[in-house]
Amino acid sequence: MPEILGEYVDRAVNIEMRFGAGLPRGVTHKLYDAARAHHGKPLTWLAASSLKARIKRGDHVLVVTGAGSWPWLPKGETDGPLGAAAIARALDFGLGAKCVVLAEERNLAPVIACVEAAGLVSADRALFDARTGAAFIQAFPLGLEAGRAEAQRIIDELKPTAMVFVEKAGPNQHGIFHSILGTGRPDTMMANAHCLVEIAKAEGILTVGIGDGGNEIGFGLVAEAVREIQPFGAVCKCPCQGGVATVIGTDVLVSAAVSNWGAYGIAAMIAALVGDPDVLHDADAEARMLVDCVRAGGMDGAVARLLPMVDGTSAQTQTSLITILHEIIRNGLKTFNRPF
Ligand SMILES: [Zn+2]
Repeated sequence: MPEILGEYVDRAVNIEMRFGAGLPRGVTHKLYDAARAHHGKPLTWLAASSLKARIKRGDHVLVVTGAGSWPWLPKGETDGPLGAAAIARALDFGLGAKCVVLAEERNLAPVIACVEAAGLVSADRALFDARTGAAFIQAFPLGLEAGRAEAQRIIDELKPTAMVFVEKAGPNQHGIFHSILGTGRPDTMMANAHCLVEIAKAEGILTVGIGDGGNEIGFGLVAEAVREIQPFGAVCKCPCQGGVATVIGTDVLVSAAVSNWGAYGIAAMIAALVGDPDVLHDADAEARMLVDCVRAGGMDGAVARLLPMVDGTSAQTQTSLITILHEIIRNGLKTFNRPF
């Protein structure tokens, strides 16, 4: 039934509102079209229904985030932690999954703040194992070698059935990570979360990537389109000259105007699929998540300031989007017969 709701959830989370200069403008609808052409289905519906089909109650799911780096964004961005928290809540409340949330150590404080504001307990391992409604949040190490080892360790230990990446940078063909504005970042500065994807592919674990630029894990599915669409897609500003497009693809890619919004879209579609709008957090929770994220050090990535904004969009826009998504789901689940 809710596939048609996915059409409109996809549209709601793909309204670009960018400054005249700064983050590239006029690109997100093109990235969406490329991802949509690849999958041939509404992206948020496809991600939500794939997760619902795969996850059984009690399964472990990895939710991975963390963007931005020292010195400009020392504790990361507001884009990522809120989306990861919304996904963890939806997977727990809606599907009974047990979510392990991963990010760089430096980015953990805003992630913990968002997860708690979204309504989940940030638990130690014993409490996480003992109860539902809790997430286990841990650091993923920097660097390729450490990333490979930790990815294998986590997967061997938790045997996750799915992984969701929210605004998580992936490397280009030379193994270099990039900001969307073409700046190169060596693997030693980043959690090499794509190591999780490589093992997931070999072991048949479902992977979902959510992004808004083309440099995030997932966009490898449409890397050629990213190279054409993004100003620094094919040629970056760093010595590698390989462009910002990542080569890391996922089973499902959700492209949105802001990565958090793509995550909210998936959460909304999980809510629709299980028939419970409360699976998607409400506007009050969204307001708390953003304030708590900023208070914990999460910065707006567009203006690089400690302000309650996400990629240059206001707090009111975040809560308004949640209101719109709730309306789509609530009305979509309702039947009303006019009495004449
Ligand atoms: Zn480069």
